[in-house]
Amino acid sequence: MDELLKEIYNEHLGMVGEGHVADYIPELAAIDPNQYAIAVTTIDGQEYMIGDYETRFTIQSISKVFTLALLMKQMGEDIWHFVGREPSGTTFNSLIQIEQEKGIPRNPFINAGALVITDRIINYNSKPKHVILEFIRELAGSDDIYFDKAKALSEFDTSYTNRSLAYLIKSFGNIDNDIEEVLDVYCHQCSISMNVVELAKSSLFLANSGRNIYNGNQIISPTATKRINSLMLTCGLYNEAGEFAYRVGLPGKSGVGGGIVAILPGKLSIAVWSPELNKHGNSYRGISTLEAFATKLGISVF
Ligand code: GLU
Repeated sequence: MDELLKEIYNEHLGMVGEGHVADYIPELAAIDPNQYAIAVTTIDGQEYMIGDYETRFTIQSISKVFTLALLMKQMGEDIWHFVGREPSGTTFNSLIQIEQEKGIPRNPFINAGALVITDRIINYNSKPKHVILEFIRELAGSDDIYFDKAKALSEFDTSYTNRSLAYLIKSFGNIDNDIEEVLDVYCHQCSISMNVVELAKSSLFLANSGRNIYNGNQIISPTATKRINSLMLTCGLYNEAGEFAYRVGLPGKSGVGGGIVAILPGKLSIAVWSPELNKHGNSYRGISTLEAFATKLGISVF
């Protein structure tokens, strides 16, 4: 595995300058676009890493996988009354379908869906930010994971589209709490900072039928795990989910911080980080890295 990661890393090292780092959140704009890291964790406890694997970045929308898992654990199948499970075919922060589909977001991984999930987490937990952070710390097997407060604040102050989305959803009665509180929790979950090793470790329960290998706890049921992986495959990369499934063949979730995580059920999780994004808001070097990894190893869920 070390040799394979080295080969893929070297093949992709020069792949920069084909996109842009996210700059609609001011605090994300200054990031060095050359940074690049890969980490693999296996369900029998092996860890492999290369590149800038010690550098932390904000996980952004990858947090939506963790908040979905947390709410499924607390609410079960009832969540499907207020969020769908179909690909949207729209950009990650699109408002169009919310008006057409009367406030029910297509899936939990577009911003609209993530906002309603966060709203219900606020209903179920008196200290929602703390609960989300502790949940992710448990998954990663580490207490050394924090919010990046500057990035959370920067996003909160400039959340024009997400604020519009949240108010539109609330106008249809599908958000219970105060919008500013929902946005505060949402921006904090997006600002959680991890390196690729921590990200791969925190996602590993999805490769292990919902069980955390670091403390032995069953986090969510095998059925709920299957459902989250299925949603990642069909909706995890927004309007590039079809292309990602075609090229990589694994469930995955991206974030505008440049991270992508992918799961090979029964075996491993892999996290890649490279901050430059393509027009869909996904890391193009990250996608290419995952495609090479899956192809060279001959793995996929199919
Ligand atoms: N915090 C970002 C936003 O809501 C997350 C988007 C993403 O990572 O795709 O705009």
